[in-house]
Amino acid sequence: MNIDKAKDFSEWYNTITKEAELCDLRYHVKGFIVFMPWSVMAMKRMYAMYEQALERNGHVPAWFPALIPESFLMKEKEHVEGFAPEVFWVTKAGLNDLEERLAMRPTSETAIYSMYSLWIHGLKDLPLKIYHSSQVWRYETKATKPFIRSREFHWIEAHDVFATEADAMAQVRQDMEMAEEVIHQKFGIPFLFFRRPQWDKFAGAVDTFAADTLLPDRRTLQLPSTHMLGQNFAKSFNVKYTDAKGEEQFCWQTTYGPAISRIYAALIATHGDERGLVLPFELAPVQVVIVPIVKAENREKVMGKCKGVEKQLVSASLRVKLDDSENSPGFKYNQWEMKGVPVRIEIGERDMESGTAMVVRRDTKEKTKIKFDSLESEIAKLPKSTLANLVSKADEWFKAQMGEADSMDALAGELEKHGFVRVPFCTDQKEGEKCADAVKEKTHANMRGSLFDSKDAPKSEKCVACGKKAEIYLYAARQY
Ligand SMILES: [Zn+2]
Repeated sequence: MNIDKAKDFSEWYNTITKEAELCDLRYHVKGFIVFMPWSVMAMKRMYAMYEQALERNGHVPAWFPALIPESFLMKEKEHVEGFAPEVFWVTKAGLNDLEERLAMRPTSETAIYSMYSLWIHGLKDLPLKIYHSSQVWRYETKATKPFIRSREFHWIEAHDVFATEADAMAQVRQDMEMAEEVIHQKFGIPFLFFRRPQWDKFAGAVDTFAADTLLPDRRTLQLPSTHMLGQNFAKSFNVKYTDAKGEEQFCWQTTYGPAISRIYAALIATHGDERGLVLPFELAPVQVVIVPIVKAENREKVMGKCKGVEKQLVSASLRVKLDDSENSPGFKYNQWEMKGVPVRIEIGERDMESGTAMVVRRDTKEKTKIKFDSLESEIAKLPKSTLANLVSKADEWFKAQMGEADSMDALAGELEKHGFVRVPFCTDQKEGEKCADAVKEKTHANMRGSLFDSKDAPKSEKCVACGKKAEIYLYAARQY
């Protein structure tokens, strides 16, 4: 397709989502898209890997209703103020007007905590860690972009309840470790984990933490966020336990939201190249494509060999496609490269005579002749080395996107060269919002927060916006 993803990311991205048949934008409700099989097959694997990590860390699944009574949503004041402008409402059932309108869940806190208040009584019920894989609906008014922002998206919500604040904070840390394990180590997507400034936290939370990656145009995209809810929702929904002394206490809660469809967008953007999608082995719907090089006179012979190789690789538990369509080999190469199939095996009559097949890696474009006898064992090495290559390439690029600045002018200059720019800032408390607005107005960048766990603090530097003594380093970035 010959579009440079760094120079013209938007066109590159739109082309790839169409050409690789990841989604169809022609559905007749604005902001809603059809997720096509090729994307869904990868996302189902992403769900499974994330769900396994959650379950290993003590979570169990449940399915909660999609409809939330308005009165539930109203219980937490900041929460309803934050979400009300984005809610789709159900006002009729059949021919009858509903007595109370029902929200299509924009997020599930209020649905889930109304039940938690019935389920939790004593310390024996804690911690309670439940996740819920679902869609949510938000009436986004910003421009939508497939997988990145749409009015319906697919995600996991984990809603955890603890007896103490310390246990809840430990969960925030575990949420971040899961993101590292799955999103970075398995999907190959690098990120920084931030504590958001107070003016940019989730509606109703005490603190919001979030993993932000960078897309090729160096704009940042939020991947999972995890929210320390404190006792705010527990008080609104009466989520209480009786402690060892027999006294009632409000619980401490966290909520974690890996948005699978958005992480998929980051996967496309991070690994894709000028030929299309590049996928880690584990996520690819098809891992190996076999392309026969045939003429009319040798078709039967070559196809016989291809079928033999297909059978062998399938029995080695690989997802294999033998492309026996009438298209030319060149057309097939382009098509499967666009779809990001990690390995292509080309087999023609000459290969059969020499006892080898041509094996082409999608990630490095490397071509190697491999003997038929060792095909299975050589291909078995590729999942690991492909992933290692994707992770290190992505990390290298990401590391080169870090800048620093100590004034507004320097920040504006750095944002032309880097994705994240660290600046000294007066405060990340509510009062700092004016300074963040000033940065946004001058540089179009948002203050994404301070690095989780960072002990770095400015000594004598001044806030880039107001010039007062800086108390904290925050990272600025232009965002999606
Ligand atoms: Zn300031």
